[in-house]
Amino acid sequence: MRHFAVVGSGPAGFYTAEALERAYGESARIDILDRYPVPYGLIRFGVAPDHQSLKAVAKRYDKVAESAGVDFIGNITIGRDVSVAELLDLYDAVILATGAPHDRKLGIPGEDLPGVVGSAEFVGWYNGHPDFADLDPPLGGPHAAVIGAGNVALDCARILSKTRHEFEGSDIVGHALEALDQSAIRTVTILGRRGPHQVAMTPKELGELGHLEAAVPLIEPADFPPQEADEALEPGLRKSVSLLRGFADLEATKAKQIVFDFFAKPVAIEGDGRAERIIVERTLLDDSGAARGTGETYAVPASLVVTAIGYSTSPIADVPFAGGKFVNEAGRIAERLYAVGWARRGPTGTIGTNRPDGYEVADQVAAAMVPGSDSDRAGAEGLKRLLAERGVMATDYDDWRKIEETETGQARPGSPREKFVRVEDWLRTLGR
Ligand code: NAP
Repeated sequence: MRHFAVVGSGPAGFYTAEALERAYGESARIDILDRYPVPYGLIRFGVAPDHQSLKAVAKRYDKVAESAGVDFIGNITIGRDVSVAELLDLYDAVILATGAPHDRKLGIPGEDLPGVVGSAEFVGWYNGHPDFADLDPPLGGPHAAVIGAGNVALDCARILSKTRHEFEGSDIVGHALEALDQSAIRTVTILGRRGPHQVAMTPKELGELGHLEAAVPLIEPADFPPQEADEALEPGLRKSVSLLRGFADLEATKAKQIVFDFFAKPVAIEGDGRAERIIVERTLLDDSGAARGTGETYAVPASLVVTAIGYSTSPIADVPFAGGKFVNEAGRIAERLYAVGWARRGPTGTIGTNRPDGYEVADQVAAAMVPGSDSDRAGAEGLKRLLAERGVMATDYDDWRKIEETETGQARPGSPREKFVRVEDWLRTLGR
């Protein structure tokens, strides 16, 4: 028997578990450990609630969780309850799939004022993340701004602009739906420090902005280079730019506006004890394509500022870390220690990008430990003993059913979720 620990239960963790399960079948036990009491990471807490088709991938992960050799154990924090070195003693391989849950910082004055929230916090708030249920973003003023020109910025702007009716069929949590329904926000400005040709927004997500019930996207035509320049763009980006050009023809005919402001670099956030405006510097692109400030500044009013400029991974004691992710070569950090997903590559790509990532690392593990070979490592039983000795209890998020209920409308009895245990319940199975 081989014993594998996958740390993190988002897409990267589940694709890796799936690949290991396929490679090893009954000759391995795979424990998926997560600091939260419920699995699926980004699928649950990151994907927008009105993108149900993307969330449907969780059904595939349910299937992995159903496998006899796979367990999900929630409420264990690696690096606090148990170290990576201890896991490596107990398991044949440890795969870190911890994602990139922290907001990158802008590094400008006023960033810590009340009213400025990172996208991980804001997205977590409307997705029922237990850490952000009390975020209470200020929605009482007429102006909000989202900083960044990627898909997360689009998600945040869209959620701020939708009507109650447009959330039907989504799994947005009740507290966010009620607050958004009462929102006074009428303008959401999306600030891109570079231009329309440099957006990281994809066509499907941009296209959605053109069909909102009560909001219209607007752009200054002067922000675009001559139309012929679009020919040189790769097809996906060309499509995005074509959608943006279409927005430049629209007028403020609806109650809310999503205003794209390009070549606009935030240099400070100001206000009397809370965010009231962003000071923005006009930019030009230099020869390398980077945004260079021109010295011309202006103010964009915003009592809610959401920064959506990318994420970083949490460091874990004794695991080499640089540039917001674990230091690795093709996923290998050290002997028997690997990283997958955003913890390996940084926060880029789609959910599907994590599949080849997980399979590649599982192949490396299988090459080093031929399926069918045995080890004398203690695996789950050893981890249970260690955690029981330490008295580790599921105290962090004890009302996990509530998380499920607020997000999905109802818990799903009979689903593989019944198999998902929290650490304290898991420890009761010691020796069985
Ligand atoms: P992203 O795609 O990397 O975009 C980050 C944006 O922030 C870029 O426009 C970047 O501009 C800007 N930025 C970075 N630092 C900045 C600063 N200091 N000041 C101003 N702007 C700054 O990141 P993301 O939007 O967080 O998305 C992460 C990944 O998840 C992406 O691969 C995304 O496609 C994916 N995702 C997909 C979906 C979907 O498929 N529906 C939804 C959400 C997220 P520069 O280009 O100038 O650096």
